[in-house]
Parts: sequence; structure tokens; C-alpha cells
Amino acid sequence: MGEWGSLSDRLVDIERHGRYRRRRTVESPQGAEILVDGHRLINFCSNDYLGLANHPLVVAGLQRGASEFGVGSGAAHLVCGHSGPHQRLEEELAAFTRRDRALLFSTGYMANLGVMSSLLGRGDVAFEDRLNHASLLDGVRLSGARLKRYGHADLAMLQTEIVGKTSGEVLIASDGVFSMDGDLAPVAGLAGAAKAHGAWLMIDDAHGLGVMGKKGGGLMEVMGQSQEDVPVLVGTLGKAFGTFGAFVAGSDDLIEYLIQRARTYIYTTALPPAVAEATRASLLLVAADSWRRELLTVRIQQFRQGARQLGLQLTDSMTPIQPLVVGDNRAALRASEDLRASGFLVSAIRPPTVPDGTARLRVTLTAAHTEEQVDRLLEAMPRVLLNRQAHKDGNGVDE
Ligand SMILES: *Cc1c(COP(=O)(O)O)cnc(C)c1O
Repeated sequence: MGEWGSLSDRLVDIERHGRYRRRRTVESPQGAEILVDGHRLINFCSNDYLGLANHPLVVAGLQRGASEFGVGSGAAHLVCGHSGPHQRLEEELAAFTRRDRALLFSTGYMANLGVMSSLLGRGDVAFEDRLNHASLLDGVRLSGARLKRYGHADLAMLQTEIVGKTSGEVLIASDGVFSMDGDLAPVAGLAGAAKAHGAWLMIDDAHGLGVMGKKGGGLMEVMGQSQEDVPVLVGTLGKAFGTFGAFVAGSDDLIEYLIQRARTYIYTTALPPAVAEATRASLLLVAADSWRRELLTVRIQQFRQGARQLGLQLTDSMTPIQPLVVGDNRAALRASEDLRASGFLVSAIRPPTVPDGTARLRVTLTAAHTEEQVDRLLEAMPRVLLNRQAHKDGNGVDE
């Protein structure tokens, strides 16, 4: 036993800091309403931004895939687990992201670990935004490279730190849409800095792909960033695509190198081909239908306008991720519990997922929400946030 003592002591300590996490059991498909521990709740914490996780065509894709290919893939991609559905999905994802090639990974977490540990090693340096997703930080750790964190979206700080880095590989990595804040990385500036210093640029657009851009091409589409600008693009399939898995898109050489070297690609079972078929069905909907994205934009504007009228403090986010920062861990937790008692599922996000003192309610909006559901959430907000988030007008409460 180390200095921490027993596991039960450690658990008490986690609880004491308001960092204890509990799971809820969902007994329904994802959707605007879900059944949680026997209660029907309006769901404002899912990343199923377009409402595709339970779409009939996506479900049918999975069923068709399972009828044709069974359930298990049987092996890793390099052994005998790489199937037709995987291959076709990779080609379609490459076309969708306008990259030479795409490579499927089993999860986004593994994609980030795989890329970083293949491109970097001892003596190399990775520059990361301080609010990057945990998997981007863990990837550097696994690689043995040095991690240098710059202030959130702080290009000036990045440029100061990167100067004078002459030996070894350099990689700049950032979330595209920040997962807990909903704001955007300054991608064009990052691309400029990377080019000026001969560094790799890796953007993890887990929350932008499918959601942003006229065609759902994510932040790269909105900012017009090509493969030359952003050579390493990571996307996940468990969010807007409503299925499971992830991919890396980039040049032929990058993908071929990852196939040879990425340990989280090589030493793991390929995801079920039926899941790849479900994602192909989902990709068709993501690419063809812009009405879901338009509807989502309307809901985001409705929420922000309503919250502003209530005097709630919003962040700079124009995406479906709308955090209401509370600060204190327990206050955020209580606000989330109060919302739940009123019929809403909104998660309290606490450290270490977000920096100390910035615990928050993370409201996520989806194209599946109705206008009325968002209105009802707004009605419940002042009551649960009173005295927890500082109100601009001091009260703003009517019950
Ligand atoms: C969710 C997320 C991941 C992890 O993806 P999974 O497929 O869930 O493992 C990686 N990066 C970011 C920014 C994410 O939000």
C-alpha cells in the first residue's frame, strides 16, 4: 500500500472533494427522452447531436450487416478481421473528409493514442491546448515525447513556446470543437504555426464532424482547411454519427505508416463489420440531409437567447455544447440532481475533466429536441442555478 492507504480511504477522499462519479442505467434507446433508472427524463447530455443513434436506417444497416457478416470481426485488421464493410467505410470517410485515405480505429481514445505514439517518441515535443481531451494528453504520455501545454486557444503563447524547438519531431494537437466548452480551435492560426515550424498539426474534430458545415464536414469544412493545412484529422463515430468507432484521415503515407506502427490499431480486434455498415448508413444521412443541422442551429439559438434573457452566464459556444459554469463541484452536482428531480438529464462535469473551480452543467442540444423541450429546460434553469451561478441581474427568478 502506498501513501494513499486503502482503496476505501481513497474513495472517501474522492467523495470529500465532490469528485465521486456514479453511473445511471438507461433502459431505452438514445433520444430526446430516455428511461433512466425507471424515470422518463428529457435528455440534455447525449452527444447524439443529430438524433441518429436510433434512426431506423442506421438500425437497419446494423441488422443487414449482422445478417451478412455476423457479429464478431474475429481478429485484428492485420490478421483476418478487415472486412468489406470496413474497407468501404474507410473509402467513404476519405471522400467525406476530402482526404487521401482514412483508417478506422475501434474508439477515438485509441485513435489518438495510436497516432501520437506512432508519430512521436523520446526527444520529440507535443504542444497541446490546455483544454484538450484526455486522450490527446494520454497519447503524448504513451509516446514518451515531452508535453507542453499552451493556454486555451492562445496562439501567441504557442508561437512563443515553439520558437527555438529545432531537433526532433514537433506536433501541435488540438480539439476542433472543445468537448467541455463548445468553442472552436483557431485552426487556421494553428496551421500557420505548424507550417512555419515544420510541425505536424493534428485536429481531433470529434464534436464538429457531422454537426458543423453545410455538408457536415465539421470544422475543416467551415474553416476551409485542406489536408495540407491539417495533415492529421481525427473523427469519432459515436457522437454525431450515432454509432461507434473512430477514424484518422490524411495522406496515403500517414495512413500506411499508422497501419505499420499504431499499436492501438495493430493489437486490437477490428470493430464488428455490422457497426461499420450502420455507420455507412449514418454517413449517408449525415452527408445528404442538412435539415438536421439547421434544426440543431435553431435549438442552439433558442437555448442561448432564452438563457440570456434569464441572466444566465453562457460561454462563447455556437455549438450544441452549451456549458453553464457553476464553479464549485458540489453546487454543480446539486444543480444536476435538482434538474433530474424536475425531469431533465443534464450532466455535472467536474475536475479532473475540467480545470479546478470550473465545474459546470454541460447542456448538449440535439436535432431531436423539440422547441417545447428546450423551453421547459429553460423554465427549470433559474430555480436550480439560483445562488449557484452569479446572475447578471441579481434575481431573474419566478416560480
Ligand atoms: C469523445 C472524444 C474522444 C473519444 O472518442 P471515443 O470514440 O468515445 O473513444 C476523443 N476526443 C474527443 C475530443 C472527444 O470528445
